[in-house]
Amino acid sequence: VIVCPHLINIRRIKIMPNEAESIVSSARKIFNTGKTISYEFRLSQLKGLSRFINENEKEILEILLKENRKPKFEASITEVSHMKNEIQDAIKHLKSWMAPTRVKKPLPYIMDKIQTRPQPYGVVLIIGPWNYPFDLVISPLIGAIAAGNCVVVKPSEITPISSEFLKNTLPKYIDESCYYIFTGGIAETTKILEQKFDYIFYTGSTTVGKIIYSAAAKKLTPVTLELGGKSPVYLDDSADVELAATRILWGKCLNSGQSCLEPDYLLCSEFMRDKFIKEAKKKIEQWYGAKTKESRDYCRIINDNHFKRITKLLEGTTIALGGNTDPEDKYIEPTIVVNVKADDPIMQEEIFGPVLPIVTVETPEAAIEFINNREKPLAVYMFSTSKQEQEKFINGTYSGGICINDVLMHFSCNTLPFGGVGSSGIGKYHGVHSFETFSHQKATLIKSLDRLGEFTQSVRYPPYTENKLKI
Ligand code: NAD
Repeated sequence: VIVCPHLINIRRIKIMPNEAESIVSSARKIFNTGKTISYEFRLSQLKGLSRFINENEKEILEILLKENRKPKFEASITEVSHMKNEIQDAIKHLKSWMAPTRVKKPLPYIMDKIQTRPQPYGVVLIIGPWNYPFDLVISPLIGAIAAGNCVVVKPSEITPISSEFLKNTLPKYIDESCYYIFTGGIAETTKILEQKFDYIFYTGSTTVGKIIYSAAAKKLTPVTLELGGKSPVYLDDSADVELAATRILWGKCLNSGQSCLEPDYLLCSEFMRDKFIKEAKKKIEQWYGAKTKESRDYCRIINDNHFKRITKLLEGTTIALGGNTDPEDKYIEPTIVVNVKADDPIMQEEIFGPVLPIVTVETPEAAIEFINNREKPLAVYMFSTSKQEQEKFINGTYSGGICINDVLMHFSCNTLPFGGVGSSGIGKYHGVHSFETFSHQKATLIKSLDRLGEFTQSVRYPPYTENKLKI
């Protein structure tokens, strides 16, 4: 027999499982042992995760400061406190979340036990973005652990310090045979997506969301897609401009506008536009001093690509406030752009930066029409003292969520479900909604063996006589 050595090599390479394959197969084996199912195990893992956050809080804030100069206070109120709230909520309510839910009994089932029982999906994949690199993987992980799944977490390669920290530190706090951190970029994510998962939870851009959805569809894997988009804010003529400018600019400047829920563009009348810009100037100076660039409270754009993308959107625009940039420092000043038309480049994509275009509309109805002519956003914001106008926006626009007289704040209210609709996403999470997302509600019927019950239901058995048809 003549054996060609290079063929042997090819066969060897083929039978060696890659990292993605071996992680998922180990996770599946562990899941099938039932290790993650008991209340006690889930609770111990959630407590481990809680210790991870508490014991590493300082280090997490340092990492976020290093990665894009995110001010520590900002990181603390956005990332760390949100993770803490989510984990405390899960620990407190885990037992009640896991309990079966009784459902109403239709008459033929009156002697039976009927319930829905939450069961874990199995092995789930969580893919995270870079803009809140801890919270946006840990918060879904809390839901996945609480629901009893084995989990593979894929943090973003764009924030490598956070990802490596998660990879090296998390296994010290939670069971590393059940929960894995898988790092890498597009190539590695593509590999992991070739594996069979029982659920995929993805947070990121709408463009990549479509890739994730197609990969999941090939294996009929259910998904949650937490995506982005252009979230509009409408400023009604009745609004308190000073308060509205404070809240809108806070949402725009937080993380330098790199938040999925940032108010992307402003709709208002010409009269309100001029008042808003005046207030905005005062506010920026009050917060960051005469030179925003020198303020320690204002963070930077994550990388050169995003810096170039945002500054390109400013080309040819009319700047009413700010506009200074520094590529070396990846600094973009809080900027307001006016005379914006619906078909301008800045209105075609999610800005994801500290630039606020203002489109003038003269009535609330025109603002609603403008919003409804575009993809459904993650959030709609509106500022008005008129209850009637507020109701018009709540009922007449379509978005993942709506926040009246503020921005972003509905995200941290974890009794509300958080998620998008249409091109801003599929599914929801936070609080009990995270537990529900990662659980299958199994329809459960336990039939009575009572003889009288059997007699009343015996009509279903053959022979199917003519008389039975008359019942
Ligand atoms: P992204 O889509 O570029 O990346 C997200 C994840 O997908 C990363 O882990 C990345 O490695 C992976 N990925 C990227 N390209 C891929 C490909 N071709 N194939 C497979 N995987 C790939 O998003 P981003 O830039 O990290 O985050 C910013 C976007 O996320 C914005 O659009 C923002 O609105 C959105 N976002 C949404 C939410 C939400 O909760 N709805 C939260 C934060 C960010």
